Amino acid sequence: MYDIIIIGGGVVGALCAEALSKYEANIVLLEAASDLAAGATGANSGIVHAGFDAKTGSLKAKFNVRGAKLMPGLCKRLGVGYKNNGSLVIGFSGDEEQLAELYARGVENGVKELSLIGKEELHALEPNVSPEAVAALYAPTAGIVCPYSLAIAAAGVAMDNGVGLEYDCRVTAIEKTENGYKAVCENGRSFEAKYIVNAAGLHSDDIAALVGDRGFSVRPRKGEYILVDKTQGKTVSRTVFVCPSAMGKGILVSPTFDGNLILGPTSEDVDDKENRQTTYEGLQKVLEGARRSVPCVRAAAITSFTGLRAVGSTGDFIIRKSADNFLTFAGIESPGLSSAPALAEYAEQTLLADGAVSKIKNGYKTERRPAKFMSELSFDEKNEYIKKDPAYGRIVCRCEEVTEGEIRDALENNPPAKTVDAVKRRVRAGMGRCQGGFCSPVVIGMIAKSLNIPYGQVTKCGEGSFITTGRTKGDQ
Ligand SMILES: Cc1cc2nc3c(=O)[nH]c(=O)nc-3n(C[C@H](O)[C@H](O)[C@H](O)COP(=O)(O)OP(=O)(O)OC[C@H]3O[C@@H](n4cnc5c(N)ncnc54)[C@H](O)[C@@H]3O)c2cc1C
Repeated sequence: MYDIIIIGGGVVGALCAEALSKYEANIVLLEAASDLAAGATGANSGIVHAGFDAKTGSLKAKFNVRGAKLMPGLCKRLGVGYKNNGSLVIGFSGDEEQLAELYARGVENGVKELSLIGKEELHALEPNVSPEAVAALYAPTAGIVCPYSLAIAAAGVAMDNGVGLEYDCRVTAIEKTENGYKAVCENGRSFEAKYIVNAAGLHSDDIAALVGDRGFSVRPRKGEYILVDKTQGKTVSRTVFVCPSAMGKGILVSPTFDGNLILGPTSEDVDDKENRQTTYEGLQKVLEGARRSVPCVRAAAITSFTGLRAVGSTGDFIIRKSADNFLTFAGIESPGLSSAPALAEYAEQTLLADGAVSKIKNGYKTERRPAKFMSELSFDEKNEYIKKDPAYGRIVCRCEEVTEGEIRDALENNPPAKTVDAVKRRVRAGMGRCQGGFCSPVVIGMIAKSLNIPYGQVTKCGEGSFITTGRTKGDQ
């Protein structure tokens, strides 16, 4: 019997787990996929929004501003990449009124240091922005973060503090018990707890419905992206948005924390909560949109991907008690990543008020070393590591300079990686220009050894996603 079950290992569930792990409580995080950050957290723009976009008084505005404030300290503590690069919403002729509205809203929402700037200042800040842009809203407090690293690092610290993590556990039924709830998973396993936190992203409405809360729905809105080679990563220094529309913030051009350039997302309401395909039409829209803001953008794509926004039926985040001792986070679309630290803070306060947690553990852990660190060290520091452990001297991923030691740590440390994509998300092996062409065979071999399974049983991202079909060389 657990005290708390958290359903969903995205950034919201993982940060809730981390925040609650400091208490003397028996907690388990149930994730449907074979790794954390398998939903929206693994496929978004990675922007820590300043907080001017959301309607004043909305939950989105409140949690965005607070979350953005907490983000730098949280990332530092968890060893996650964060950069305060600032953002610009650029305006073309006719957009001036909308920029002024965004500015006024930002000030009301409590965003600091916002300013409206003219053409000259805009082009001095970002010389590659379209010469047709006439003004901009400048938000120096905005930032960029690696979203999946944040979820993984938070879950890692939570596990170090004793939280259990169960992959491949899709909750399909919830029964009321004498002391709380019993969550039953697709794989037949079940978990009992006194309290449930529902952070199931796109499926948070389905989970709430399992305890009778059918008062809202969540629909997917598709966003396609192009990720551009690091050679183009400095095309802009700040995140460049256009004026938002009813469908979202439009197509942005931004550096990523890891030095690539990201273009996207499109915005299309769809019905299928699992369809993450990219399309030719969608990627063309991304390129056209990006070139409208930054005409010199080159299509030096290293990959493309789709994220699905969890759009709630109220137009705002939906945060409520779906039943007694059952806290639901739903409709956590953008700015959900920026808000996540504040949502976790809210979960902690709510569970404290409900008496689900009370006593703080002795010596709980709050910090963590970055998972990929060798390439950041000086020559002498690298040598120190290699002397102690030669695995840190063997480069496996040439593009991203990831060592065997770092990959081994990703397989062994909390939360353990069990698939090729999970290794990628932790240490970036396979995320570079060759997209795993060189390192995948070694990574697969290391996963097979760590899980003690045949090479051919290793998957890309869990169930059925086998990578090899048989030997191509030799006869052993
Ligand atoms: C295209 C796009 C762009 C975005 N850009 C930004 C941005 O730049 N800045 C920003 O602040 N926000 C952005 N967001 C929003 C942000 O990504 C989300 O708000 C955030 O990732 C939501 O996290 P989550 O944990 O609520 O959901 P998710 O990350 O979706 O996690 C939910 C988890 O629950 C699991 N799950 C689902 N059902 C079950 C079940 N039955 N049992 C067990 N587990 C289950 C899923 O597998 C998943 O891992 C963007 C989103 C998208 C899609």
